[in-house]
Amino acid sequence: MTTTAPGAVAASALTGIAVGSGSAAGPVARMAPMPALPEPRAVAAADAPAEAEAALSALRDTVADLELRAAKASGAAAEVLSAQSMMAADPVLADRVRDLVLGGRDGAHALHAAFGEFRAALEAAGGYFAERTADLDDLRDRSVARLLGLPVPGLPAPGHPFVLVAEDLAPADTALLDPGLVLALVTERGGPTSHTAILAKALGLPAVVGCGDTTALTDGRTVLVDAAAGTVQLDPAAEAVASAAAHERRRRERSARVRGAGRTADGHPVKLLANLGALHELSGAAAADSEGVGLFRTEFLYLDRTEAPGLDEQTSAYRQVFDAFAGRRVVVRTLDAGADKPLPFATSADEQNPALGVRGLRAAARDPELMETQLAAVAAAAAAGSADVWVMAPMVSVPAEAAGFAARVRAHGLPFAGAMVEVPAAALRAEAMAEVCDFLSIGTNDLAQYTFAADRTLGSLAGLLDPWQPALLELVRMTARAGERRGRPVGVCGEAAADPLLALVLVGLGVTSLSAAPACLPEVRATLAEHTLDDCRTLATVALTAENALAARAAVLARAG
Ligand code: PEP
Ligand code: MG
Repeated sequence: MTTTAPGAVAASALTGIAVGSGSAAGPVARMAPMPALPEPRAVAAADAPAEAEAALSALRDTVADLELRAAKASGAAAEVLSAQSMMAADPVLADRVRDLVLGGRDGAHALHAAFGEFRAALEAAGGYFAERTADLDDLRDRSVARLLGLPVPGLPAPGHPFVLVAEDLAPADTALLDPGLVLALVTERGGPTSHTAILAKALGLPAVVGCGDTTALTDGRTVLVDAAAGTVQLDPAAEAVASAAAHERRRRERSARVRGAGRTADGHPVKLLANLGALHELSGAAAADSEGVGLFRTEFLYLDRTEAPGLDEQTSAYRQVFDAFAGRRVVVRTLDAGADKPLPFATSADEQNPALGVRGLRAAARDPELMETQLAAVAAAAAAGSADVWVMAPMVSVPAEAAGFAARVRAHGLPFAGAMVEVPAAALRAEAMAEVCDFLSIGTNDLAQYTFAADRTLGSLAGLLDPWQPALLELVRMTARAGERRGRPVGVCGEAAADPLLALVLVGLGVTSLSAAPACLPEVRATLAEHTLDDCRTLATVALTAENALAARAAVLARAG
């Protein structure tokens, strides 16, 4: 992902955080706005029970609608919709609405207030939970609109392809997006790891998130969304649209031409692997042209639960993945609990700075049983299939942790143990890390967060989190060099690997594999195939010696063409 300062508004363009690549032009269609809340109304005590019943009935209708849509949907959409309907069906929420009405509020304000209380609790939990507040706002608006007899907010259906513009997107809507009709996404809010950003990448849609005020983007107005530049041009000239379309066509044709194992123009191999974050992504990832999985985020098995899944459940989930990737590599990342992925049974709720607290491998050290069960499940599933299973730990800070982890992995009969490099200290001591394990994998998302002391979930800090930052690239270089000296492969599995131009730089820095959302791999493969290893090395020097992230990207773009 390439980023520009979010929120800046030029005369004829909005700028935000660029997500994915490519561009698309088309007419804007905005999400139906949330219903305006009417002035509070006094409800007589005698009428309160009926008023409460009307509010609860609106809430039940919202749940029923979500369940219906979940039943019709499949895969990700079904999962997201069911999760949302469960939130709305929480009896505590209904009780609160009833209490508020019986306490004198009208139905609309009671719904609004009850959802507001839930929202505040999620926000206070921070990280992953705070990013789910858009789901609650969506449920609130649907319920209030139903109660007031207003149009229910949701995806527009203008009857033709459109650029979807929204304040933020709720999973209930994004899960149902039809990539055949939605040309691009533009949101006012959201950061580089927001739901919209992740979804846009998975669908291969150009997107600009965190744009700030989008009131200029009215229904039917033509815009040109450039996901590489992070810009949304208003009323673009016909020539600009034609030239962007031609560029887009060439980009797609070029990506489709090259298939198979990743390599540079002179044949230097670079393994191209897929990131996998949930079982519903499995069939798409397995069907993608890749040499396997470079980052299997296992957290999805543990999220939204009160206790860890047992050995059998984990074994069967891992078997599904290993079977789908029979004969190919699968790099399993052990549980990464904490900070942006809080789990009530694995992390402490009262840490002041969860990102700096007991997370990742540290949480596993505090509760050894968690990791033992997971490793036993991975080993059992690996033994039953023919995937080439590698295992790595998140958030490793010092070589001793890497050594301890590798010993535990090997004790389970799993031959390949690795450490993620996500903390600057690990990059600075990468050679000692490489000495005690079999491979390293650089998580540029967290490595950027910790190098720049910038919360990775904050859209307002996107400039610092830009993976083109030369300081971040320096740490990648140190790690790759250390791996080279020790004869260990060093991959990149953070979002940086999804940017085709940056991929050239990473390879030039010595990285041996790149792992990204499957939709991003074809363009990375095609770009690599057009440059020699020497080109990549030159581009790496250009990026490393640039003054800042924007200059690094501009200089590499000018040179690589
Ligand atoms: C990273 O930090 O770059 C990474 C790949 O791990 P995650 O995004 O899951 O924290
Ligand atoms: Mg990470």
